[in-house]
Amino acid sequence: MKKVLVLGAGQLARMMDLAGAPLGMDIKAFDVRTNNVVHPVDPEHIYGDLKNGIKQCDVITAEFEHVAHNTLEECEASGKLFPSSNAIKIGGDRRLEKSLLESCNVANAKHYIIENKNDFDQALKQLELPIIFKSALEGYDGKGQWRLKSADQVEKTWLDMANFIADATSSVPQGIIAEQMVPFDREVSLVGARNTLGEIAVYPLTENHHTNGILSVSVASSINEKLQANAAEVFKKMAEKLNYVGVLAIEFFQVGEQLLVNEIAPRVHNSGHWTQQGADTCQFENHLRAICGLPLGGTHLIRPTAMVNIIGEDDISNEIYTIPSVSMHWYDKEKRVGRKMGHINLSGSTEVELAQRLVHLSTLLNKESFPDLSEFAKSYFAKVSQ
Ligand code: ATP
Ligand code: MG
Repeated sequence: MKKVLVLGAGQLARMMDLAGAPLGMDIKAFDVRTNNVVHPVDPEHIYGDLKNGIKQCDVITAEFEHVAHNTLEECEASGKLFPSSNAIKIGGDRRLEKSLLESCNVANAKHYIIENKNDFDQALKQLELPIIFKSALEGYDGKGQWRLKSADQVEKTWLDMANFIADATSSVPQGIIAEQMVPFDREVSLVGARNTLGEIAVYPLTENHHTNGILSVSVASSINEKLQANAAEVFKKMAEKLNYVGVLAIEFFQVGEQLLVNEIAPRVHNSGHWTQQGADTCQFENHLRAICGLPLGGTHLIRPTAMVNIIGEDDISNEIYTIPSVSMHWYDKEKRVGRKMGHINLSGSTEVELAQRLVHLSTLLNKESFPDLSEFAKSYFAKVSQ
């Protein structure tokens, strides 16, 4: 029985455990806030400290990229960490991420690295408004971002960012990336896996919708072969460059038929949760297979599937269970504004059936917690039923 230690004890570690149990895997999670190794589904159950956790396990992985560097190094020294600390650090620092994109020669938004006021002034000269500024470290769910739309906001934007840099407590110096706002047609992501033998399997591209900077809906349905091939090639380039082992997610902006990489996530990803019901092997199982030296499982789409995030809400009508393909995934978290509390997967035997079910689902969920779902479902239905 393989013993896996996950750095981070959130919903991703929890879902790895739920996927690993049938494979006879023993998954434990390291809670970085308490420094305890805990059970991923029952975190009250404490096993000990990190040192002990490292000694007891066969393989170590991470569910998030903002792990303290000394922890990553301690894990890497054991020879058990997959993906490597280098890959995890790149995913956690937009400066390193941008230089990886450049070295792999993959298309991405024009950008400029800012460390001081002079860099900021240069960035304004090199890029055109609107510009998006992102913190180099610790950004997630759209946090640590500033959007500069008009010249009269320049001073205030700089002050906000300068304060943010000055207040940083990270061990690595905080910085800012200025990025050209991309007038994208849509956002898509590619989730894939590479195992210890170097074998690669990627899922179909997923279309992603955000509400207030947080992923709200992902849909995996029709496949555009050309885009898929393009995304798969980017995945192969980056995964091989990093000698990557595990699941890796790549977020893209689609502009016409072109894909620009937005960012990468060196881990299982929210936009891959649909694979729990829409693929033969879900991303959590494939991540475990990849890091444990097993062959990868099937990644093709078995039926059109959507994922709806439950954000800041813990009260969902039981009526949703009347929809035949509904699959509920709660994370057992305390309710907080903007917090990902769970997700709902929904499938259909055809895209039209999936769209009808999404419309139905949207009528059963409250509008305050799912503000854009109804409109999204209707427009998706209109698109696929043409
Ligand atoms: P998450 O954790 O949800 O992936 P994040 O905080 O890591 O988010 P990004 O993915 O870089 O940050 O940005 C969040 C969202 O902001 C993107 O999904 C996109 O909708 C928008 N965005 C980011 N950069 C750009 C850009 N250059 N042009 C247009 N929109 C952008
Ligand atoms: Mg993102």
